[in-house]
Amino acid sequence: MKEKKKLSLGAWIMIGLAAGIAVGAILWAAMGAEAATDFTASYLKPFGDIFVNLLKFIVVPLVLLSIMDGMFSMGDIGKVGKIGWKTVVYFLATTAVACVIGLVVANLFKGNFPVLSLAEDAAYEAKESDIMTTIKNIFPSNAVQPLIDASMLQIIVIALLFGCGVLVAGEKGKPFATFVSSFNEVTQTVMSFVLRVSPIGVFCLMSWVVAAQGPKILGSLGLVLLAAYIGYIIHTVLVYSMSVKVFAGMSPMKFFKGILPAAVFAFTSTSSVASLPVSKECCDEMGVEKDISSFVLPLGATINMDGTAIYQCVAAIFLAKCIGMELGVTQMVTIVVTATLASIGTAGTSGAGMIMLAMVLEAVGIPTTYIGIIYGIDRLFDMGRTALNVVGDASCAICVNHWEAKAAAKKAAK
Ligand code: ASP
Repeated sequence: MKEKKKLSLGAWIMIGLAAGIAVGAILWAAMGAEAATDFTASYLKPFGDIFVNLLKFIVVPLVLLSIMDGMFSMGDIGKVGKIGWKTVVYFLATTAVACVIGLVVANLFKGNFPVLSLAEDAAYEAKESDIMTTIKNIFPSNAVQPLIDASMLQIIVIALLFGCGVLVAGEKGKPFATFVSSFNEVTQTVMSFVLRVSPIGVFCLMSWVVAAQGPKILGSLGLVLLAAYIGYIIHTVLVYSMSVKVFAGMSPMKFFKGILPAAVFAFTSTSSVASLPVSKECCDEMGVEKDISSFVLPLGATINMDGTAIYQCVAAIFLAKCIGMELGVTQMVTIVVTATLASIGTAGTSGAGMIMLAMVLEAVGIPTTYIGIIYGIDRLFDMGRTALNVVGDASCAICVNHWEAKAAAKKAAK
């Protein structure tokens, strides 16, 4: 008997997307917008909501555990401190720049993004708070409440504090670290289950979106995708070519040529972690010391996601516009801060950035249900953002390698 070829999740998602668009468009044409919206909202959207609920359910343990586990992978703070702080500062700085680029590009496109008539109760108010209150509210007064309320910034603070606690506690902290690593692995597996039902979620949400909006919504999705890719390209050209040139004296062309195989692998696999062996090989070929590449690259694959940050900013602006929400300066700053943190909390696996987008949306008060609008084409966003994430990690390895070589030469000359 001929063996049946299994379709990949990506293929199923595309099928869900196409079927959702087709069904939505047929209903829209056959019943008219109002009846089609009622029908899809009553019978299809609830299944989409189940999928979004599952995403929300997994995001809290995912953030808490993946950040702590990422910190443990740095090992003993003292030993790795020297390389560690340079690496982390580089990661944070490039990610913050990525967020700003994402916001600028998205705001330039904003005029062309649609306002949808999906919002259950007309206009959504952006969460308004002054910057000092926002900062104050990052620090929790209770260890459990933030987990219940899904207050992401507070959860990140909890993760950082416990992560430091474990590293400083030494031997006695080890069992906790082992437990967290194992819990993190289990959570990632549960996340993969959730992603497995995503084609059904995509189908249901997409048919609802298209039935209510008519097929014209598809042009808008193309537009938001274009905005994200413009952001990716600007960041690559501006930030990475400048950083390798200025900090490591390397020709950008040589760098891009060297890292190309890893970028292509990341583009197709949509996983920074899966791309690690290839990016390590590329960095070693470009002359990065082995101990530096084996420290910087895995850490980067866990916490450094510039492409993801750009995507989250663009998506947040797009979805805000879709529901008719006006974002002020405070919300823009909130988006930069949360997208930087959310990208740190994003696992280096396929689709993880879209799950963490929930955190950015919640921080500014955009209902997370609307992730459904762009979920269907997430793979297309993911390909570009993963390639960018991997190139970003490599650029850091090149710079840190140069700084360490310079420091060693200086020491030897003394
Ligand atoms: N797929 C991305 C990565 O592995 C993460 C994301 O979904 O943004 O880097």
